Amino acid sequence: MSDKPTGELLEVESLRARYGEIVALDGVSLQVGAGEVVALLGANGAGKSTLIKSIMGIVTATEGAIRFRGQALAGVSPSARARGGLGYSPEGRRVFPGMSVRDNLLVASRASARVTAAQLNEIHQLFPALLQKEHAMGWQLSGGQQQMLAIGRALMSNPRLLLLDEPSLGLSPVLTSEVMTRIRAIRDRGTAVLLAEQNVAKALEVADRGYVMQLGRIVEHGTAAQLEQSPLVLQAVLGG
Ligand code: ATP
Repeated sequence: MSDKPTGELLEVESLRARYGEIVALDGVSLQVGAGEVVALLGANGAGKSTLIKSIMGIVTATEGAIRFRGQALAGVSPSARARGGLGYSPEGRRVFPGMSVRDNLLVASRASARVTAAQLNEIHQLFPALLQKEHAMGWQLSGGQQQMLAIGRALMSNPRLLLLDEPSLGLSPVLTSEVMTRIRAIRDRGTAVLLAEQNVAKALEVADRGYVMQLGRIVEHGTAAQLEQSPLVLQAVLGG
């Protein structure tokens, strides 16, 4: 398969992780190159969230290795991973409901006032609705706006790689398409994206390449065009 990465921003090698007796990752290897959108497809419980949490350092793998920008991540805390260039938008769009949209974004920044203002400006260009709603409270936003805010928060640190867990969850097809369009814009601004999704069609519209997970393993990988034609993809996503 001609799915060679364009660079080696992220390398995951033979990763295993478990929750007690449950094996959630059973020898997972994948790469994300600089400037790529890579889809991570699979049904509920396939292990997508666990893989993303392992990359972020929230779940500790029992075996295998993760390298980001050439550095082994074993023993590196989640906050140090964030400082090193990993951004994370968790499943379920966690925004602070009682805080304004602007403050939701500002609390995610550790940079100087000047850098923070520039970053805020970038995010407003990507998501104009967040500027219009800047003084609204988190709880007042629609589901799609909350998702955009959650992604905006993860972008405040200007990450090299954005880990995005199920952004389409609970969104209408129209809003899902809107979010996916922004993912392409994020990539075009120089942030690679690892996109965990159950919505295969929408994810493959924006992804360059993808991996398919089933029961903690990668069962298929290839370019978006190859995966669109692959019978294994639908089986893995529908069949669990
Ligand atoms: P989803 O879209 O539902 O989040 P997923 O592909 O992200 O699915 P994971 O959440 O990574 O899958 O789950 C992988 C496996 O690990 C499943 O069998 C799941 O039940 C189990 N699992 C996930 N989180 C926990 C946990 N905190 N404790 C015990 N088992 C868990």
